[in-house]
Parts: sequence; C-alpha cells; structure tokens
Amino acid sequence: MQTNFTAEQLADPHVATSEKILRKCVHCGFCTATCPTYVTLGNELDSPRGRIYLIKDMLENGRPADAEVVTHIDRCLSCLSCTTTCPSGVDYMHLVDHARMHIEATYKRPFWNRLTRNILAAVLPYPGRFRLALKAAAFGRPFAGLLKRFKPLEPFGAMLDLAPRALPKASASARPGTHPAAGPRRGRVAILSGCAQPVLKPEINAATIRLLTRLGVEVVAPAGEVCCGSLVHHMGREEQALEAARRNVDVWLGEVEKGGLDAIIITASGCGTTIKDYGFMLRLDPAYADKAARVSALAKDITEYLATLDLPQQEARGVTVAYHSACSMQHGQKITMAPKTLLKKAGFAVRDPAEGHLCCGSAGTYNILQPEISGKLKARKVKNIEATKPDIIATGNIGCITQIATGTAIPILHTVELIDWAYGGMKPAVLS
Ligand code: SF4
Ligand code: SF4
Repeated sequence: MQTNFTAEQLADPHVATSEKILRKCVHCGFCTATCPTYVTLGNELDSPRGRIYLIKDMLENGRPADAEVVTHIDRCLSCLSCTTTCPSGVDYMHLVDHARMHIEATYKRPFWNRLTRNILAAVLPYPGRFRLALKAAAFGRPFAGLLKRFKPLEPFGAMLDLAPRALPKASASARPGTHPAAGPRRGRVAILSGCAQPVLKPEINAATIRLLTRLGVEVVAPAGEVCCGSLVHHMGREEQALEAARRNVDVWLGEVEKGGLDAIIITASGCGTTIKDYGFMLRLDPAYADKAARVSALAKDITEYLATLDLPQQEARGVTVAYHSACSMQHGQKITMAPKTLLKKAGFAVRDPAEGHLCCGSAGTYNILQPEISGKLKARKVKNIEATKPDIIATGNIGCITQIATGTAIPILHTVELIDWAYGGMKPAVLS
C-alpha cells in the first residue's frame, strides 16, 4: 500500500513503525473472511482491511480520532486472526495498538464509556480490588436486566452477568514463595501469578505448580510482580501498561540473578502474548529495551514448556475433550499443536471444534465493553464446541474459560488441570 507520510511525521517512531506495517498491506482482503467482526457484522469497516484504511487515513492526515474510527477500532477484538491469515505478513497487532494509543490521546469518549473504562482499568489489574468488586456484584445482580436495557449502562449489566456467583478461596499458590522440586531438580522457573485468574480460578496455578514440582522443576512465585499490563494495553493506556511491564521485568530479572531461570511460565495465553511483546513495547526505553527483550525470550506458555519435558504416553482414559484454542494462543503466540499433543499423550481423546479460528468473544474486556457482538460470538463458539459432544472443554486462557462457561453446562478447564490429573495430580473438583 502506498503511503504519504511527511518526514516530520516519520520522525515519530510510532508513526514510522506503523508506516512500515501499512506499506506491507496489498489490499487483497483475504483477512476479511477470517475476521470475527466482519463475519458477524458484514461491514467492510469492521474488517481488518477496513480498519487498516481508517487507521492510515487518521495517521497520515495527523487527525485526532473521530467517532467513526473509534466505533470500528473498539469493535476489533485484537484476536489477531487476521495476522494468521494475511499472506503479506501485515503486523496488524502493532498497528491497532498504535491506533488505540492515538485514540486515547486525541478522543474524548462519552461520559458513561469513559467511566466504564476508568473503572475497568482501576479494578481488573488488581486482585484485591477485583475480589471486592466481585463480592459487591452479588448486590447488583438483580439489576443486571434493567441496566442492560439502557445502552450506556449495558457494560455494567454484562459485568454482573459475568461475575461468578461463588468465589473460590484465595490459594497459597498465589502467594510469593518457592516451591521446591520433588526429587532431583531438572529446572527452575518463575510463574506469573496474574491478576484476574488467581481470583477466579486459583486452581490453575495450583495445578501447574503441583505438576511442575512433581516433574522435578522448582517453581518460584516472585514477590513484587504485578498484572502483565495486557488489559490496559488493549485500552490504549500505554503508560500504565509500560509501568507494569517495567516492574515485572525488574522482578523477573532479579530472579534470574538470584538463581537462574529456564523460563517464565504463563498460564493465561492473553498475558503470554503481551509478555512476549515486552521487548517491542519497551523498545524505545533505553534503560529497559534489552532487559525487556530478555524477559520476552524467557516467557513460555505452560504447554510450550511442558512439551520440552518429554512426558510419557498415558493409557486412554475414555474421556473426550474439545480443545478450544484461545486467539492469544493460536494467533497471538502461534501455539497450535503443543496443547493438543499433550492432551493426547495424557490419554484424552481430543476433538477440534469447527471454526476454531474464530474468537469466543471474550477478548480481555471486550465481553463487557461490546456485549452484543461478544454474545453472538459466544453462542456460535458454544454451538461448535457442543457439536463435538465432549465430556470436557479444555483451553489455555482464563478469559475464554469465564466466557464459555456462561454459555454451556459442559465443564470447562484449563489444559494444565487435565494434564496434572493425568500425571498423578488431583481430579479437578468440577469433575468430581
Ligand atoms: S484482530 Fe480480529 S477482530 Fe480485529 S481486525 Fe483482526 S481478525 Fe478482525
Ligand atoms: S490479508 Fe493482509 S495484505 Fe491482504 S488486505 Fe488483509 S492485511 Fe492487507
């Protein structure tokens, strides 16, 4: 695609990066067919190609964002399905990240939208605040239907719908500390505790720690770690995201200095995509660019790490698992085979639901901010999963677990919970 940026515009490193990305797009439109919002809404402006044109026009003309651009960029899930499809290697992720930063800097959102986003950014990344908010949701639940009748208040209704009725107790696995390897040590890793996940499903990291220590890997949950920054990053709040990234980089490299680390283990693929991008996000910060790149290189999804441990084949268990590949897993990190191979080795019969490339509609805060489109995508996803007639659904991202669980009665678990069970761990409580 031809671009017409001035030399002055290109002096801005964000614009220079976006210009390089834009030039790669050849307008072929292959990406439209696999874009969940285009498939759902049928509007070119809600396709990757349409959004690329909108972003180009806005940046090239040095214009502040307007309501039209914001509408169509807000509807993008950042699922990155387009990056898997694109034959020209267009780096849509960094382009839309830049567009979101530009929107945040130049556009004043309507009051209720601003308030909702401020609340999400102030609550979700902090486990203590998030837990309190979920407890308070019990009082608001009877009003969810009423809230959803008024468009500006719809996200508050969606939040109440998503809030679980009962919260698990905080787990010891979320506390900082070292979990020694059982038997001779074959590795040492740090585990990301996360923000929403330890509140909603602490058993995911508990299962990970049990499994890894049984396999001879020491697991450290470092003190001082914060949310990976993904939630605010996708809202265009770059400074807040970069602050979180810097803090985590310091914490993890401190652990490398203390005892060495083979990997930083991540059990939520949404966080994994962001941490693997720290090197890019902090590239313009001379004090952190190299350190962040080191951290990104150490970041591994739990299934990527387990694949290196050569687990033995287990006997068939007679349990059918539908594997839902989170967008951040298959498109963001391009991890497609490892989780399924591990599940098969663990003795499960694995099914691939149709339209596996399409998002379930969770996408960070998307199911709160865009509940209508999110609801349609959830219904489509659940229908495809249920068609495989599974006993259990497995996936690698807490957002997908929460989203899909509200649409089906089939139990849904993190992949690692099943692998832990198959290799000597506890049967997940939901299956008992
Ligand atoms: S990230 Fe997903 S929703 Fe956004 S344009 Fe690409 S395919 Fe469409
Ligand atoms: S598939 Fe790639 S090159 Fe083609 S329109 Fe989409 S982003 Fe552009």
